[in-house]
Amino acid sequence: MWTMLGNPRKLGVWRYETLLPQVAEERQVTLGEGCTPLVKSAGIAKALGLSNLYFKIESGNPTGSYKDRIAAVGVSWALQQGKTACIGTTSGNAGAAVAAYAARAGIPYHLYVLEHIVEAKLVQVVAHGANVTKVKGFGESAAVGDKVFAHIAEQAERMNWESMITAYKCNPVAMEGVKTIAFELYDDLVETTPDAVFVPVGGGGLFTGIRKGFEDLARLHGASMPSMVAVQSAGCDNIVRGWKQGSATAAGGDSTSQISGLQVPNPPDGEEVLRVLNANEGWAEAVADNETWHWQEQLAEKEGILCEPAAAISLAGLAQALREGRVGKDATIVCVLSGAGYKDAKRLQTIVDGKPAVPLKSADELS
Ligand SMILES: *Cc1c(COP(=O)(O)O)cnc(C)c1O
Repeated sequence: MWTMLGNPRKLGVWRYETLLPQVAEERQVTLGEGCTPLVKSAGIAKALGLSNLYFKIESGNPTGSYKDRIAAVGVSWALQQGKTACIGTTSGNAGAAVAAYAARAGIPYHLYVLEHIVEAKLVQVVAHGANVTKVKGFGESAAVGDKVFAHIAEQAERMNWESMITAYKCNPVAMEGVKTIAFELYDDLVETTPDAVFVPVGGGGLFTGIRKGFEDLARLHGASMPSMVAVQSAGCDNIVRGWKQGSATAAGGDSTSQISGLQVPNPPDGEEVLRVLNANEGWAEAVADNETWHWQEQLAEKEGILCEPAAAISLAGLAQALREGRVGKDATIVCVLSGAGYKDAKRLQTIVDGKPAVPLKSADELS
């Protein structure tokens, strides 16, 4: 007999409260995040010749991405420490998540965003009442990125605000929320670990959090470790290049990626990711953006799953790994689909524009 790690009577990430930073019950902010579906692949697994492919559908979170897990723990931790506001940066999804949880907790959120942020992501942030500023060149220039991170760190220190940059390097306590993805996988696969987990990588926090979750499971429950596969956009593959060079740090260079959420040329958790990769406990794939877009459409058409490109890249990475002969056909594989399709409305419009126009007929013309 096995028992679930999570307490099904509790809502959201707090069902794993014994494995998370300790926050008093009355300060545990939640919107019912996490507990997202692990769905076995239908059409795509067949097409790829795989027998045990699963999708972890993170669009099931309240604001549409896995960042809600971080926001739930981070905002609760801010309250626990008596902090009066949150401050941070985002390519969009972290902002939407923290804005929602800060609104729920009744504290302000000061936010700096990319100059070319995807409009649908900004809309969510503004709707939740965050105090937002766009920064010129942020998202393309590594130097601008460094300046923004430094400004936020300085403000957080001076004002005693909670810094909600979603990376271990910046807020390791909030990032513990990501571990719940590993805990849920272990519960859903009935106390087994998948052979490989394909993870979209921007700053590297999602990858690092899932990995740390499995480390906890190994230590506490004797779980085995999965191969961790870091998937980056070829236009922003600083970690992949670092790994290929056998380096402990990410390679330099600006981003030309068009995948919102993955344009992080100075990945704050790059060293954490490279530590795992360099220990041969996984590997990395750099995928062209048009491959990612292709698999995003395949997910919509063959699986009924509409996710954003930053999510679909995990599957694009798997398709590439199969071509390279890196995964067995019977392996249990999880692709983390990190965010919802509606997050990138422009990309959705491009998909629709590539299909036959929707006809308009009178009722009498219907046959
Ligand atoms: C933030 C985000 C990522 C990248 O996560 P990192 O922790 O920056 O590597 C991937 N997909 C989605 C949908 C995201 O919101």
